[in-house]
Amino acid sequence: MSYDPNNIFAKILRGELPSDTVFEDDEVLAFRDINPQAPIHVLVIPKGEYLSLDDFTRDAPADVVGRFFQKAGEIARQLGVDGDGYRAIANIGSHGGQEVPHFHLHICGGDWLGRMIARE
Ligand code: AMP
Repeated sequence: MSYDPNNIFAKILRGELPSDTVFEDDEVLAFRDINPQAPIHVLVIPKGEYLSLDDFTRDAPADVVGRFFQKAGEIARQLGVDGDGYRAIANIGSHGGQEVPHFHLHICGGDWLGRMIARE
């Protein structure tokens, strides 16, 4: 599967769709999820064209991958969820339940999130 430049997050990155941005620099954008599953639910995405965590960790340079996860941690601290804890989730492909084919890390917190996996 190749990268689809018309996916929703690519449109957000190009400014064609709005986002409730909480952090942005030259490599990373973080914005609030439109359908939050927790009191705080933010999506952290690289600006590069990567389909999923699998694609990102295979094809992106190691320094880009490292900075992405450092920034995700910084964003969680900025959101104030580090104290009581939070969940960082990357859904990958069909079994992972990924809906948007641009790699994104969900940061969910602000309340007890329950056990890890509910299979519906
Ligand atoms: P996933 O199932 O891991 O691919 O997650 C995709 C997430 O993107 C879902 O939690 C959606 O609610 C969220 N989402 C879809 N469209 C938008 C949008 N325009 N702005 C913010 N979040 C969105």
